[in-house]
Amino acid sequence: MLDNLSSRFQEIFKKVRGHGKLSESNIKEALREVKMSLLEADVNYKVVKDFTAKVRDKAIGTDVLQGINPGQQFIKIVNDELVELLGGTNSRLTKGVRKPTIIMLAGLQGAGKTTFAAKLGNYLKKQGEKVLMVAGDVYRPAAIKQLQVLGEQTKIDVYAEEDNKNVVEICEHGLEKAHELGSTYMIIDTAGRLHIDEQLMQELDDVRKKVRPQEILLVVDAMIGQDAVNLAESFNKVLSIDGIVLTKFDGDTRGGAALSIKSVVGKPIKFIGVGEKIDDLELFHPERVVSRILGMGDVVSLVEKAQSAIDEEDAKSLEEKIRTQKFDLNDFLKQLQNIKKLGSLGSILKLIPGMGQIGDLAPAEKEMKKVEAIIQSMTQEERKKPDILKASRKQRIAAGSGTQVSDVNRLLKQFDQMKSMMKMFSGGKMPSFPSFPGG
Ligand code: GDP
Repeated sequence: MLDNLSSRFQEIFKKVRGHGKLSESNIKEALREVKMSLLEADVNYKVVKDFTAKVRDKAIGTDVLQGINPGQQFIKIVNDELVELLGGTNSRLTKGVRKPTIIMLAGLQGAGKTTFAAKLGNYLKKQGEKVLMVAGDVYRPAAIKQLQVLGEQTKIDVYAEEDNKNVVEICEHGLEKAHELGSTYMIIDTAGRLHIDEQLMQELDDVRKKVRPQEILLVVDAMIGQDAVNLAESFNKVLSIDGIVLTKFDGDTRGGAALSIKSVVGKPIKFIGVGEKIDDLELFHPERVVSRILGMGDVVSLVEKAQSAIDEEDAKSLEEKIRTQKFDLNDFLKQLQNIKKLGSLGSILKLIPGMGQIGDLAPAEKEMKKVEAIIQSMTQEERKKPDILKASRKQRIAAGSGTQVSDVNRLLKQFDQMKSMMKMFSGGKMPSFPSFPGG
């Protein structure tokens, strides 16, 4: 599921990450590809349009943070907007104050309602709840039996009336049974049709009015793509559903349904069915799904770390210094310390795909410490004007920092190189941090 979309996104990001700076035309190009990929994944056209507009505004309007590159920041923006599109944080099931909490399932025939009833029952049972499943699918001949078999398999109580076709009545009797058994949850499996029809809707609405479920979940087959969105809208109009369950998420679908449904219908996806077995059920976590689609969870946490570690004001004054070429060794030291705030070099690199196996980073970290010690052994004047550093001063600094004069010279040379690099960048946006000294 979502594999195609995932590989398309990975390609786009590979290109984007290669750019040291992102120009408007880079962003436009990347966005065009994002748009194509989403449309190919069968996401609703209007949803795609709104989505890309939001990402564009953010990508163009945001200054790039230090410690990360613009490509990484772009990925983070796409990530956040996708999470938002899927419904923000995970939305939980209601637990009512009166017992039992009643959950009513609705959906077309074959969507996976009966299977989901048992999966949900099992999920709740594992959390210590006492569940009663009510067989309200009185039209599909095998549905009652199917629920009973699943009930035996999962050791969950089932209430059924084989000869009664009145669903409202069955649910009322079911509720009495739930009280008798002390059930904390009652799950109502209802009948589906091949298509939406008036009679079906009327019947579901009657059950809703009579039994007043705390939660109505619409069970939708994810394989039907765009139709899932229309279906959800129709059910929602009549029943005012509380959430959506997407089944067969394990199938080879393009994922458009999942990505459009929240934004079009305004109701959250609460669970996904990922197989035919009872345990093949997952709570729907937008962040996790997005991280699966983008395969970039690592970059995202890197950017989040940078966001929390680096002060925006600092970044502005630094930019100013680079532009006016007033960047001195004090600023250099500050940057080193900012990088350290992100964690050890190893832990930062581990977050970047492909960099996990980079080998021993201890030498680079040692080098960073050395550079820090050298700068700290300088006077303020020396830090501001490294040009005044002649042999005797260098000897003093080396002795003070426990290093060699050659280390001091190497640092000064690197600093010079960095300054000339900055000259090239100046006038533009923040460059990403140049390579580590000694690294
Ligand atoms: P109902 O008519 O809505 O009650 O549908 P069923 O519960 O009988 O399910 C219809 C078919 O879909 C059955 O063969 C199920 O095993 C299958 N099914 C249900 N949920 C999933 C799922 O998440 N993944 C897969 N692969 N199959 C599912």
